[in-house]
Amino acid sequence: MPPLYTAALFDLDNTLWDRDGAIRATGRLLHETWPAVRAAASADEAEAKFAAFDERGLAGRERLMARTLEEWPGIGLSPEALAEWYLQKSRSVLPQDPDVLPLLRGLNAASVPWGIVTNGPSSGQHLTIRARGLEGLTGCVIVSEEAGCRKPDPGIFRLALECLGMPASRDVLFVGDDVAADMAGAKDVGLSTAWVANGQLWPDGVEPPDHQVPHVSQVAPLLLG
Ligand SMILES: [Mg+2]
Repeated sequence: MPPLYTAALFDLDNTLWDRDGAIRATGRLLHETWPAVRAAASADEAEAKFAAFDERGLAGRERLMARTLEEWPGIGLSPEALAEWYLQKSRSVLPQDPDVLPLLRGLNAASVPWGIVTNGPSSGQHLTIRARGLEGLTGCVIVSEEAGCRKPDPGIFRLALECLGMPASRDVLFVGDDVAADMAGAKDVGLSTAWVANGQLWPDGVEPPDHQVPHVSQVAPLLLG
């Protein structure tokens, strides 16, 4: 089978790495690291609370730190110092996903242009890219804070296409986990879409994506044939 698409754009969080899993694991690490957290909560509770404070990234780092220190003041760090700990630990607490780098290296070996389009702060997203071994694999990394617009804004998709040197077309596959930001956003600019389900079901009443895959690595045949 020849490849169906000539280029790809990938979301970062919960697509190229398991951000949700990393947040939960960081909650457990808080519990392991600070006696004050252990005195107040079980490991399961610390994991659930930290994930709830994070709101799947929507809370932002500052609020996540503030909520964590409000819940467990005995940690005894400044918000800035805890943020530093969090940034380092959360990106490295999970082992590397063995199937992500082979996919991206395979695209490079086959000269399939690809890039990353991610919503989030510049510092945090680039740190993720470095810590997860993705740095230098593509020259096209578009971060919303730097772009001045966020998915699903068409502007951020256009910036990424420009970087790839590709027009907006159905020949370009956008791969992501977020139904609104990734799938609807990419479809609106005329791209094809592959949804990384992460164990979820596609929501009722929303026009389905072109492809659904349980894990990002499963888009390989679509891009490599
Ligand atoms: Mg995502």
